[in-house]
Amino acid sequence: MTRAASALPDACAAAIVGGGPAGLSAAVALARAGVADVHVIEREREAGGIPRHCGHPPFGMREFGRVLTGPRYARRLAAQARELGVNIHTETTVAALAPGGLLELSNDGGTRELRASRVLLATGVRETPRAARLVSGGRPAGVTTTGALQSTVYLASMRPFDRPVIVGTELVSFSALLTCLHAGIAPVAMIETAPRVVAWRFSSALPRVLGVALHVNTRLERILGQRRVEGVQLRLHDGASRVVDCDGVVFSGRFVPEASLARLAHLAVDDFSGGPVVDNFGRCSDPAYHATGNLLRAVETAGWCWNEGRRAAGALRAALQGALPDPGESIGVVPVHPALKYAVPQRLARSETRGRIQLRVNRAVRGRLRCLAGERVLAEKRIDALPERRILLDVPLPRDLREEESLRIDIAEAH
Ligand SMILES: Cc1cc2nc3c(=O)[nH]c(=O)nc-3n(C[C@H](O)[C@H](O)[C@H](O)COP(=O)(O)OP(=O)(O)OC[C@H]3O[C@@H](n4cnc5c(N)ncnc54)[C@H](O)[C@@H]3O)c2cc1C
Repeated sequence: MTRAASALPDACAAAIVGGGPAGLSAAVALARAGVADVHVIEREREAGGIPRHCGHPPFGMREFGRVLTGPRYARRLAAQARELGVNIHTETTVAALAPGGLLELSNDGGTRELRASRVLLATGVRETPRAARLVSGGRPAGVTTTGALQSTVYLASMRPFDRPVIVGTELVSFSALLTCLHAGIAPVAMIETAPRVVAWRFSSALPRVLGVALHVNTRLERILGQRRVEGVQLRLHDGASRVVDCDGVVFSGRFVPEASLARLAHLAVDDFSGGPVVDNFGRCSDPAYHATGNLLRAVETAGWCWNEGRRAAGALRAALQGALPDPGESIGVVPVHPALKYAVPQRLARSETRGRIQLRVNRAVRGRLRCLAGERVLAEKRIDALPERRILLDVPLPRDLREEESLRIDIAEAH
């Protein structure tokens, strides 16, 4: 069900940008907590976010206590929000953010403004497309990402190619493989630059069982073909070049937060995570804005983002009641070891006694992960980490941290 843009008010208590699992779970939690005036703004025809086009299970165990496919899960999240009186405005894009919670909206009716006491940004992630990967060759048809492939297959019931190669071996790359199977498409190869599959090691059994060649330590150098993809040129681990015949290329993973709105606006964006800078309440550099879900960092599962949305709602409600501490009273968190991809949140409120930091590494690394304030070790744990695995570090926050201090996250590597 879509709602007319005219149902949009000029002002509201809480506006949520993005109707994926994080935005919808926040909306539900706010409505349940008695916040009457919650508006979700969603640019697609239907709310539900990425799971709308993930036509496979498992979604929903944590949220609904049963295993659902992505589309069922998405429908259930949106229905639950509507039942609780949340206003979902689909086919409406937030085009700009202005200080203090002023949103510029755009839809078929034109542009208009919405002022919200608090705004929750929940715009998710996107995969790195071909252009940003600097792969040479022409611009033939048949080059896509997993998300676009899933939309074509599950939402438009179309088959864009018959024999593609899949670039990447993250979890989502196997989702691309399953999408191909569903549509009767037979991928010819999966290609990975790293020395092993990035997803769990047992995932490499799937291409083997399906007769799909898996090339690790291999780089996609060039896409061949002018009108349609006719093949790809690979650089193998031993330096040799090889051409693989295919009629499509799926660029999967290498997720980045969908942070264009924050970047174009006045909000601070973190160079490490690519998402907005937030404190442990999810507050952005302008405290009228909060952020949650995969926008914070790439990339977590739907269930994790759903849970983050619920927690963000708690903080948003406290903010609406004026019950959060002064946003200036916080301390920065900075990843200093080159193997650390990011540390989120980037600030911790000094009023709290503990903070939880989410981290990832960009290469395999073993050693002791440490949170340091000056020379003092506040928290430490052993890690044996691979890329794209979540790492959590709980940090106690002593009262005597100096005003100018930042917390440094470092790794003492085991060699
Ligand atoms: C291709 C792909 C496949 C994935 N497969 C899985 C999977 O199988 N299982 C899994 O657990 N996770 C998967 N993920 C991870 C996925 O990101 C999470 O499952 C979950 O969807 C994150 O929830 P979210 O609410 O943070 O973001 P999203 O689900 O991405 O929702 C963000 C919403 O914001 C909307 N939006 C963005 N910008 C604007 C704007 N300016 N104005 C209005 N609306 C806007 C988008 O249309 C979207 O509906 C996948 C991700 C991708 C990209």
